[in-house]
Amino acid sequence: MKNIRNFVIISHIDHGKSTLADRLLEATGTIEQRKMREQFLDMMDLEREKGITIKLQPVRMEYDGYILNLIDTPGHIDFSYEVSRSLAAVEGALLLVDASQGIQAQTLTNLHLAQEQNLIIIPVINKIDLSRALIEETAQEINQLLGIDKKEIVKISAKDGTNVDRLLKAIVKRVPSPKRDLKNPLRALIFDSHYDTYKGAIAYVRIVDGQVKKGDRIIMSASKAAAEVVEVGIFRPQLTQADSLKAGEIGYLATGLKDVGQSRVGDTIGLLESKIKPLVGYQEPKPMVFASFYPVQAPHQSKLDAGQADDYNLLKDGLAKLKLNDASLQYQPESSKGLGRGFRCGFLGMLHLEVISERLKREYGTSLIVTSPSVSYQVGRNQIKEPWVNLKIISPSQYLGQVMKLLSKTRGKYQDTQYLSPERVLIKYQAPLNEIIVDFYDQLKNITAGYASMSYQMAGYQPADLVRLDILAAGEKIEALSRIVHRKRAEKEARFLVNKLKKLIPRHQFVIPLQAVVDGRIIARETISALKKNVIAGLYGGDYTRKRKLLEKQKKGKKKMKKFGRVNIPQEVFLKVLKR
Ligand code: GDP
Ligand code: MG
Repeated sequence: MKNIRNFVIISHIDHGKSTLADRLLEATGTIEQRKMREQFLDMMDLEREKGITIKLQPVRMEYDGYILNLIDTPGHIDFSYEVSRSLAAVEGALLLVDASQGIQAQTLTNLHLAQEQNLIIIPVINKIDLSRALIEETAQEINQLLGIDKKEIVKISAKDGTNVDRLLKAIVKRVPSPKRDLKNPLRALIFDSHYDTYKGAIAYVRIVDGQVKKGDRIIMSASKAAAEVVEVGIFRPQLTQADSLKAGEIGYLATGLKDVGQSRVGDTIGLLESKIKPLVGYQEPKPMVFASFYPVQAPHQSKLDAGQADDYNLLKDGLAKLKLNDASLQYQPESSKGLGRGFRCGFLGMLHLEVISERLKREYGTSLIVTSPSVSYQVGRNQIKEPWVNLKIISPSQYLGQVMKLLSKTRGKYQDTQYLSPERVLIKYQAPLNEIIVDFYDQLKNITAGYASMSYQMAGYQPADLVRLDILAAGEKIEALSRIVHRKRAEKEARFLVNKLKKLIPRHQFVIPLQAVVDGRIIARETISALKKNVIAGLYGGDYTRKRKLLEKQKKGKKKMKKFGRVNIPQEVFLKVLKR
């Protein structure tokens, strides 16, 4: 059997992982030149459009008598658990740094993950073809920050292919071959999976011990799901059947299981009859960010008209189908008096949320309202805890002042500053996740002319002084607008909400007091003054059709109203207030 090298490419977003993967596919003759298209491994439309890798795609190549298994990882923080399982499936990592950007925040986070798995790191400087490439400076940064000898760095252009052959040689030479114990009973690490209508959940695996073939009866250590192997195979990169998979190899197992929730990332597959110790590092998928999804046409509580029911069912079907392929997506039905029927959904982070909502719109044709996202709180008997993160920001040093000012607004704690060079600085900070999920990154980009990069890792839960903010219209609580906020922020948020509602809720024939309440105390109020509304009075003459049209329009408008006590609130008011 041939020698094997298993490796990943890790980098900050846009530093050239997918482009390098393209060159490797070409150089090893894995994909014929004429079939090659850019970023071959980014298969989802959304990935190609946004130029990001969401779904990792492994590929097996052959080079100089070696089998090379490459896993292209999603660079984004939301998926760092998935990345960590890919790293656990290999022996080596190419650490790719863009010569025109230098080391960025995600470079560090991913490097840290790779070091935790004791991987052999091959530092690679990419984009040396660019005239603005700072090759020597970047090498200096790699040397200083990572303690890696400059001589070990491979300098390439993934775009024009310069030195890609050298890189291939370095992979064969420096990445150790996997340990290959064929006698032990099967242990396979699931590093990804997808759902196939015919073959069920397909687990992407690294065989750690033993071997597996079609017909073997298997069981997953964590999910306890048992199955008979429908098919085994390798990634070329399309799934290609093989006779068996043996220790050290990377490939797939078709399980026939009914969704990927039963073959979860990080789980260990063993043979049904053998007793094995599960591989370390498994974690249940943990949603960090929550938001509610509602169809734009909310069904009425009383009577569903066909079109509106369709919108809801479309959303329900779409979520169910996406869930087949995504064990970390969580959702449950929810209904709100303002928005009708919808779903409360849990995500790994904001990108995950965005990807799911985009896919629901594009692939399942739903029209969607996404409510403002919040983090997952731990609510105990006496206190509420909120998730915190360790933040890393790398910025040109000239913006250090502005960055610190922005950070100081987060309720967070300063930790450390480190100069990577006189021009670039690394800032470490701890902050509540809630403070950075929504628009922190945009603000950071704004104040640094787009130059700063950011990355974070979960740092556990801490008690927080959180309160529930309720909104009342004419004394009636509007449940859909209630929210958990930090006590210090409550007043500002309260004022913002009542002000906005005052502008949005149409006048009634009586005065409507709007109140924001925390702990039974009113902390902000506004009043919508009364209006004696006679829509026909303003019209001249006997233009009856015009009057009738107006009345019909008003009737239609009423249909979309929700009643809260005596107050009618059009649905669009909720959309405007809750939308992020
Ligand atoms: P990823 O996010 O790490 O997968 O990065 P991509 O492979 O998608 O590359 C990001 C952008 O950098 C794309 O526009 C690529 O064409 C470009 N790029 C990648 N490698 C090179 C290179 O060696 N030279 C130049 N000039 N551009 C590159
Ligand atoms: Mg990519």
